[in-house]
Amino acid sequence: MSHDLKNAGQATQNIHAGQHTDWTTGSVAPPIIQTSTFAFKNCAQGADRFAGREEGYIYTRMGNPTIARLEEAVSTLEGGAGGLATGSGMAALNTCLFALLNAGDHLVGTHSLYGPSRMVIERDFSRFGVQSTFVDTSDLDAVRAAMRPETKLVFVETPANPTIVMTDIAAVAKIAHEHGALLLVDNTFCSPIIQRPLELDADVVMHSMTKFINGHTDVVSGMVIPGSKELLERIRPVHYFLGACMDPHQAWLVLRGFKTLSLRVKACQENAIQVAPWLESHPKIEWVRFPGLESHPQHALAKKQMDGPGALISFEVKGGLEAGTRFLDNVKLATLAVSLGGIETLIQHPASMTHAAMPADMRHKAGISDGLVRISVGCEDFVDIKTDLEQALNHA
Ligand SMILES: *Cc1c(COP(=O)(O)O)cnc(C)c1O
Repeated sequence: MSHDLKNAGQATQNIHAGQHTDWTTGSVAPPIIQTSTFAFKNCAQGADRFAGREEGYIYTRMGNPTIARLEEAVSTLEGGAGGLATGSGMAALNTCLFALLNAGDHLVGTHSLYGPSRMVIERDFSRFGVQSTFVDTSDLDAVRAAMRPETKLVFVETPANPTIVMTDIAAVAKIAHEHGALLLVDNTFCSPIIQRPLELDADVVMHSMTKFINGHTDVVSGMVIPGSKELLERIRPVHYFLGACMDPHQAWLVLRGFKTLSLRVKACQENAIQVAPWLESHPKIEWVRFPGLESHPQHALAKKQMDGPGALISFEVKGGLEAGTRFLDNVKLATLAVSLGGIETLIQHPASMTHAAMPADMRHKAGISDGLVRISVGCEDFVDIKTDLEQALNHA
């Protein structure tokens, strides 16, 4: 089945990559190989497997057939050299950082990264001698100015969380490579359906599959997708030794959710395309930021590097934090919860939730105002989403 999948359309790849029939039983759905270890026929075979002379499984932390299907599926859509599935998105990030940085190295990152991503670099990797500088990576001069001779990794999230500010991936890849550094992109907000950073010259992509890729708000998981075999083999041993692997049953659940990624992302996006201008024209709304709006200062970049504006919108209710809180306390269909990319509409307040661990001045510098609200538009009927937001705004 998979012989020409590389050249197939995206929806076909999404449904079939990693989903080949298991001919030992004929099972069309992938079997869950729930085992921690794999038997060898004799000592010679065990030795051959460990030495890499024979292909085959050894121990689930180092690889498992159900997990391998998921790695193949996501990597195919991203156009990667392979995938390394992890127990969470943070495990995917830590695997990349641990594999690609040494003591004395320097990292340049987007200032409004997912909160814990920035915190682990500044709080914890600093303890091992890794320096970092966080800048507005939408400003290419700021990226250039932050580069040092010891900069080994540039890490961007675009659109960034939760400011919806975009970074020009191809331009930043060029700057990173001119300085001998690699570019890592967190593609969680888009999924490969609307953005494929490896095609834009990024070196490694990471995902929190907890979000769009699984899409059903029921599994925490992550993935690292290197763009070359060389990088895949450089990161793989760190992935083993860090113990960042996922469980076969978890992999099966994500594979199940992944099959409808293309359908879900497009449905969420269709709704967001209607929600954003409606919010923008609402008298109680101060501002709206959405890549699909002409008012977004980077609307042209969104058109250039994304296949659609996505489903994440940030906005501020007039009256600041107090009015915003009254609005959030009154939503009924939308769920007040962190996370994003699920089939249901989720809404949250970054300053008191996902980015609360960030000191206030750092948060403001990163463009996260106290009244900013982030909505991940789901797949419900647009009219119901609108009616709910409308009634909640009446309380603001
Ligand atoms: C959620 C998220 C993460 C972390 O992923 P977990 O699966 O929660 O560990 C990293 N980056 C972004 C952009 C996220 O939204």
